[in-house]
Amino acid sequence: MLENYGIDIWADDNFIIEDGVVKLNYASNPALINMVKEIREKDFKGPLLFRFPHLIQKQIDKLYSLYDNAINEYEYKGKFNAVFPLKVNQLPNFLKPLLKAGEKYNYGLEAGSKAELFLAMTYNKIGAPITINGFKDKEMVHLAFIARKMGHDITVIIEGLNELEMILEVEKETSLPTPNVGLRVRLFNSGSGAWAKSGGIDSKFGLSSTEILEAFEMLEENNLINILTMIHFHIGSAMNSIKPLKNALKESGHIYAELKNLGADNLSAINIGGGMAVEYSQFQRTTQYNLQEFANDVIFTLKNIARQKGVEEPNIFTESGRFISASSTVLITPVLELFSAEYDAENLRLKEKNPPLIEELRELFNDINSKMALEFMHDSIDHLESLLKLFDLGYIDLEDRSNAEILTNLIIKKAIWLLEVDDYEELKRIDNKIQEKYLLNFSIFQSLPDFWGIKQEFPIMPITHLNKKPTRSASLWDITCDSDGEIEFNPEKPLYLHDVNLDKEEYYLGFFHVGAYQDILGMRHNLFSHPTEINVVFENNEVILEKILESQKIIDILEDIDYDTKEIKNILKNNLDDNTYKILEKYLNENSYLKTAWS
Ligand SMILES: *Cc1c(COP(=O)(O)O)cnc(C)c1O
Repeated sequence: MLENYGIDIWADDNFIIEDGVVKLNYASNPALINMVKEIREKDFKGPLLFRFPHLIQKQIDKLYSLYDNAINEYEYKGKFNAVFPLKVNQLPNFLKPLLKAGEKYNYGLEAGSKAELFLAMTYNKIGAPITINGFKDKEMVHLAFIARKMGHDITVIIEGLNELEMILEVEKETSLPTPNVGLRVRLFNSGSGAWAKSGGIDSKFGLSSTEILEAFEMLEENNLINILTMIHFHIGSAMNSIKPLKNALKESGHIYAELKNLGADNLSAINIGGGMAVEYSQFQRTTQYNLQEFANDVIFTLKNIARQKGVEEPNIFTESGRFISASSTVLITPVLELFSAEYDAENLRLKEKNPPLIEELRELFNDINSKMALEFMHDSIDHLESLLKLFDLGYIDLEDRSNAEILTNLIIKKAIWLLEVDDYEELKRIDNKIQEKYLLNFSIFQSLPDFWGIKQEFPIMPITHLNKKPTRSASLWDITCDSDGEIEFNPEKPLYLHDVNLDKEEYYLGFFHVGAYQDILGMRHNLFSHPTEINVVFENNEVILEKILESQKIIDILEDIDYDTKEIKNILKNNLDDNTYKILEKYLNENSYLKTAWS
């Protein structure tokens, strides 16, 4: 059995392995490597970020059909609505295809800041809902009134009573139409998963039951109870179990029903926030529910509460972002170097007379066979450690040390080859010391910030060589000068890669599910900026690579962090002759990723 990198677990049939390469399971099933080659022929090097709008469409279609099925199954009277939370990905090359994909459903947007609200006001289709979450000031509330005037179906979800006061003030001070209001409830039942801080009684967000009653009274006193339309909660991202959601639904469902019975006649919706999980694991499923079950539970729970309390069944809003966006983006990075590549037999500088331990290493190398492979390998690692100590004590010279390193590496490689790696369990038992380090032309800080920050796993696999057995336990290094820029080999979740000769062949790794949060969280550590991005669309089954956005030029990165680029150029120019300066000028207009034959 060849290694499939768990593609059957995480890929949701979006990608397949065929003829030894990863292919898109769509249209003419193009191979990822062919897209990479096409872009590189246009002279774009470094890391590439491929976006697949058809996968955004797939997730939106799926979301609506899940709730459609559930609504039909339970003959539910409320309607289903969804918005995309902008904080998950605001970039135009992602957002514009998303808006197009959601058009037929009236899929809307959720904004959590003034800047996001501007995006929503500009690009959201009139008639599709906008919701606003997060902390607000009066200016932001004012913006919501203006959005309403533009004709947007907008709901301001208040996080605290002061925000309701702001709404009442703007309502009095302007003649603008008043937007709808939702109440974010602080739930007693908190979420699960890594981001559970969003829900729960000590959550950063939401109104307590006392505050909800006060909000109701404030609206009544001001004759504005008719603007209260929504109850909202969000218990956290990447829920891996359905139980906390059920609890939150019950709690908020009863709050909805109580308010309706108190006289909130226009209250018509429950917004269940986001949190639908994405399967990131390459090793075993971590999500303990299926999506239809999830949607069915939502409908069933709300239906029961409505019946019990004698109120109409609420419309449902969801704000799942990760679920919609993660799978749509794939990062592909060239491998620049295998650290052990220098340990080539050609580089040995053996002497007439070598230290005894070196001679023993030579014998181990010559005599190794499949039966003794593991034992010889361990012996060689022991010998290397002794030889390194001898070097520190001054008993062997630099050439001896170099020979020791080369011979040990050759023995390890030969041992792995002899083992034939039929059984990865065998390899796992081998020392961590035999890992190969793969240097990749990218920055983990820029492209996988959630790996750096919270050790979020992403599916990782080579996009070629898949008809060969990978034999090296791999740790991945990025090109920042930061030791945190490493994805260490983890024996619990081992990544095996191929032993490639980069002088003769190219080798690229794909990082999947990077479409949620990574684009904007990414930081410019060492001044590496966004990778070159490409949208992959199809016309009559043919691949079209469009909206190519090259990674930022060095000069523009410097400008972004507020350097006076004229000053930089002048200083450089004044210290150089014209011809040399011209070379600098060219380099300043390139991006900062490495350029080698295979970068
Ligand atoms: C972040 C956020 C979301 C999106 O959560 P996902 O886990 O990406 O689905 C939805 N609603 C609110 C209020 C949020 O803050």
